[in-house]
Amino acid sequence: MCKHILNAQVSIRAPCCRKWFDCPECHAEVSDHKLTKTMEMHFICKKCKKAFRKDMTKYEESDEYCPNCDNHYVIDAKTPQQVVGLEAEDLRVDSRIVKDEREHRKMKEIDLSELLD
Ligand SMILES: [Zn+2]
Ligand SMILES: [Zn+2]
Ligand SMILES: [Zn+2]
Repeated sequence: MCKHILNAQVSIRAPCCRKWFDCPECHAEVSDHKLTKTMEMHFICKKCKKAFRKDMTKYEESDEYCPNCDNHYVIDAKTPQQVVGLEAEDLRVDSRIVKDEREHRKMKEIDLSELLD
């Protein structure tokens, strides 16, 4: 289970070492090399456990769903910070934290899209 994206719906195969990871950060933690980018991504859906692949040059909205069970796997990443929740005592500090979290979430999305370049 990936500790970076708690609600990961798919595993992604790293094209460089052909191992399966839930997110690029998982790959970085156990690898001594950089994740190779690819236009043909291999996935395993965590819901139906079936593998499928996508040509990222022709990626459409309908491709955000598992072709086998229609599981919507392209979703906002749920990070551990969000699950812990925020203490809303000091509003000033709180809004800063919320902003950080949003940035963090944006970073997660960029992480994944970096694979596709
Ligand atoms: Zn690798
Ligand atoms: Zn991860
Ligand atoms: Zn599926």
